[in-house]
Amino acid sequence: MSAELYKNPAISQTANGLIPLAGLGRKELAQALTDFGIAPKQVRMRSKQIFHWIYNYGVTDWDAMTNIAKNLRARLAQTFSLERPEIVDKQVSIDGTRKYLIRMAPGIEVESVFIPAVSKTGALCVSSQVGCTLTCKFCHTGTQRLVRNLTAAEIALQVMVARDDLDEWPSSSGERKMTNIVFMGMGEPLYNMDEVTKAIDIICDREGLSFGRRRITLSTSGVVPEIVKAGEKTSAMLAISLHAANDELRSQIMPINKKYPLKDLLEACRAYPGLSNSRRITFEYVMLKDMNDSPKHAKELINLLRGIPAKVNLIPFNPWPGSPYECSDWETIESFADRINAAGYASPIRTPRGRDILAACGQLRSESEKIRASQKRKQQLENVDNT
Ligand code: SF4
Repeated sequence: MSAELYKNPAISQTANGLIPLAGLGRKELAQALTDFGIAPKQVRMRSKQIFHWIYNYGVTDWDAMTNIAKNLRARLAQTFSLERPEIVDKQVSIDGTRKYLIRMAPGIEVESVFIPAVSKTGALCVSSQVGCTLTCKFCHTGTQRLVRNLTAAEIALQVMVARDDLDEWPSSSGERKMTNIVFMGMGEPLYNMDEVTKAIDIICDREGLSFGRRRITLSTSGVVPEIVKAGEKTSAMLAISLHAANDELRSQIMPINKKYPLKDLLEACRAYPGLSNSRRITFEYVMLKDMNDSPKHAKELINLLRGIPAKVNLIPFNPWPGSPYECSDWETIESFADRINAAGYASPIRTPRGRDILAACGQLRSESEKIRASQKRKQQLENVDNT
């Protein structure tokens, strides 16, 4: 098989020696079939067929691919797998939110969360990294060191696992429960832009999972140099984890602000491709008691956003074990929302979802830890001894 495929950690980790195809993009799939020995003239047709079976019908059994000859299916099954990664744990909240802990590879576990419909939209919150390099003080993931970036396949597989669980194949049928994908799980997606872009291409492919690009939201803590590029590459909607409207406070809550202060962040937002009243930027604002929730803070926020088509999502803080903050009182949140609203910005207060299973915003964290170099070397030596 091509060396390129083996460079992809999601591809090299096979439980039974088979090469997993679910999660691959069109190009990688065609390459895999070429390397397998499919005649060059047939590669395009075969990869189109297989892509459609995998991503539109969600099949996990080669025998379901009825437009492919039986003997070819049998040969493909000896080399390739259509399996999903293992769901290590699934929890369902009393409000219907579902949290999945998925093992992508040995030691690589990620969480994704399905938040069922409010009105007609149900969103899957996907992770883009295992752990995170940023240490936003209100966020549980921020306490987990970065283990590694997820591959495009591992991101797309989170969507497929949820679609399995929701029993929503084929993707083109009827009313779906999962209508939106938000990159608000573990990690900073703009620090993994190449793989996130590829994953969005897979997720939005019309012959596959078929999500509209306006149904995808990229949420960033404010990686300024990547913001406009991310919009150009993905055409996704943008959300900014803002949480404070002055530099002093924001730097305290979100250290990334020291590198990319508010002036630069807001400039990048103004330049976001396609920005308009129908494509507003969502600013996420977590309500922290006595930190960022006063009338003065509301005024600062209004001044900061002036002239930007924006919506402000107010998020009651979701505590986690050892978290340093408390959630603002309900009346304080409501009066903050009223002030923002009066200035002409929609400012819904997000109903906390999945708090009882630590699936709410800012509560995700897996136990995956980066293997220390010495441990890694030991493992490699053991592997050599075992061969
Ligand atoms: S809010 Fe996002 S960027 Fe900040 S620590 Fe958490 S996962 Fe990382």
